[in-house]
Amino acid sequence: MPYERWACTVIDLEAVAHNVRVLKALTRPGTLFMAVVKADGYGHGAVRVARAALTAGADRLGVATVEEALQLREAGIGAPLQLMSEPPASSVDLLLEHDLIPTVTTGAFARALGRSAVAHGRDIRFHLKVDSGMNRIGVRADDAPAFAAELTAVAGIRMEGVFTHFATADVPGDWDFEAQLARFGEAIARMRDEGVPPGIVHASNSPATIMHPEAHLDMVRCGIALYGLHPAPSTYGLVDLRPAMTVSARVTLVKRIGMGEGVSYGLTWRAAAPTTIATLPLGYADGVHRILSNRMDVLIGGVRCAQVGRVCMDQFLVEIPRSIEVSEGDEAILVGVQGDQRIEMDELADLADTINYETACAFGMRLPRKYR
Ligand SMILES: *Cc1c(COP(=O)(O)O)cnc(C)c1O
Repeated sequence: MPYERWACTVIDLEAVAHNVRVLKALTRPGTLFMAVVKADGYGHGAVRVARAALTAGADRLGVATVEEALQLREAGIGAPLQLMSEPPASSVDLLLEHDLIPTVTTGAFARALGRSAVAHGRDIRFHLKVDSGMNRIGVRADDAPAFAAELTAVAGIRMEGVFTHFATADVPGDWDFEAQLARFGEAIARMRDEGVPPGIVHASNSPATIMHPEAHLDMVRCGIALYGLHPAPSTYGLVDLRPAMTVSARVTLVKRIGMGEGVSYGLTWRAAAPTTIATLPLGYADGVHRILSNRMDVLIGGVRCAQVGRVCMDQFLVEIPRSIEVSEGDEAILVGVQGDQRIEMDELADLADTINYETACAFGMRLPRKYR
């Protein structure tokens, strides 16, 4: 038997393919679909997710860092690959070499990119990021048309698209969302008036893709929904997403403890009566946030069992109810389905006072992955 760690995530690539298909079906035919696979595919493994998404109909890929882009290229993925923020100017030769599509937000970077392109003897395409109100990155909407016009004078670079990003796309009927879309629309219209074609115009993340068809424009950029997770409760029921990640482990030890005995660091939980405790071999270094201590459940033997005591770096403990027998090697599910029970990523995220985006990414830190 080859060695296998007794804790892993299981990634359902057919679920990823299904999610691409249902999300694409929300858009008009011809709308481009970017699969966002930054942060190692939100913890699901960027390379495998990227391949599954492309096969299912995604047109291009989006990442955050140059390293993430290079990992995909090194795996042999040749699809158009965009960096969704402006990378350091020191990366320009790598961008040329690996045919990556950077975001441009400053003249200095655009000129460095142009110089490298000219030195390589070819053009490189880029997308201009417009800040329509999130105030994170991008050229302010008012300044974007003039900036875009200025960039047309830089040799070696070609504007393939213009985009923005919403701060509140998941809030139904939100005034700020409408304002961002309007400001972005005005900037695009002014570019056209000034004879600077914006190319591929895009704005929608997962919540906007699901809730705002008027914001789909030429391309949508879906991350969280690709993995079968809802961007917020406001999209529950609006689209049939299938969660791709299961988090599973096997019991490494089962023991009886007496009334009044405590478990784990600080002995923060004590048995009110003699009870059975099971040990699971994963902890906060694997993405089981420590704030989940004494809050979360896991599924063992088809029933919900309470996690007890502090979650450690590499292990945590579970109280086994009297109704089930547990032995070493038995399966425990932290996220996913067992029998007729289910624990959603969203349940864990709520208990940890965070969002499913963060819990999914965290499970990508150290757990080995299996694909099916
Ligand atoms: C991460 C990211 C997305 C994807 O957002 P989701 O809410 O996960 O769909 C889209 N666009 C940009 C610019 C991003 O940084």
